[in-house]
Amino acid sequence: MKKKLIAGNWKMNGSLAANASLLEQVLAGLPADPCIVAVCAPAIYVQQVAGLTQGTAIAVGAQDVSAHDAGAYTGEVSASMLRDLGARYAIVGHSERRQYHGETDALVAIKAQKALAAGVTPVVCVGETLAEREAGRTEEVVRRQLAAVIHLNGHCISEIVVAYEPVWAIGTGKTASPEQAQEVHAVLRAQLQSATPQAERIHILYGGSMNAANAAQLLAEKDIDGGLIGGASLKAVDFLAIIAAASAA
Ligand code: PEP
Repeated sequence: MKKKLIAGNWKMNGSLAANASLLEQVLAGLPADPCIVAVCAPAIYVQQVAGLTQGTAIAVGAQDVSAHDAGAYTGEVSASMLRDLGARYAIVGHSERRQYHGETDALVAIKAQKALAAGVTPVVCVGETLAEREAGRTEEVVRRQLAAVIHLNGHCISEIVVAYEPVWAIGTGKTASPEQAQEVHAVLRAQLQSATPQAERIHILYGGSMNAANAAQLLAEKDIDGGLIGGASLKAVDFLAIIAAASAA
């Protein structure tokens, strides 16, 4: 069985001092044989985190990546720049980017492509809003979001990580039940199976108010291969409890 993956999404939080302190505590508390662990830091801190975690079990990731390779794109950070700084992962298509920055399925697919081309693993986020769930459109929405990425990256789709993040559960304290999450993960797994014979090796993470109290139950589900953790990744004790649950699962 593959190891679970726990990825922290620090969002726009942190400072040089706070990052160093958080990482020191997390590194000190890692279990002997941990699951795969990553922290996705603001781009400006990727180099710092890479330095502080070098030679440890923690990998560094970014939270977004440009859809362009280089050139006149003020404010953008390319996948190869992130790779240069040590990033192994980059979140793409987080619901906050889709919602506040108008990112479309097509743009997210290009971002995943740019990350893959630079040797950075894209963590592709999909998820429905509350209105979409209540309208019975969950499966249609997540399948559409993932289809765009598969369509553009079919030949190397087994290299991605998928994160199912119901928008109504992100930062709200509301978590999908293990059954609700597993139902969607199974849909995503089946979709990946149609695209690649290697679908079983793809990590499908759950994200949305995963915490120390609910992690073990969620991670016990067949198709939940880890978690994308927002708020709880900023507190060493909570992040370590989730890592412990994933390492034991
Ligand atoms: C996220 O932002 O990816 C996330 C899952 O946030 P939270 O854990 O705070 O709900």
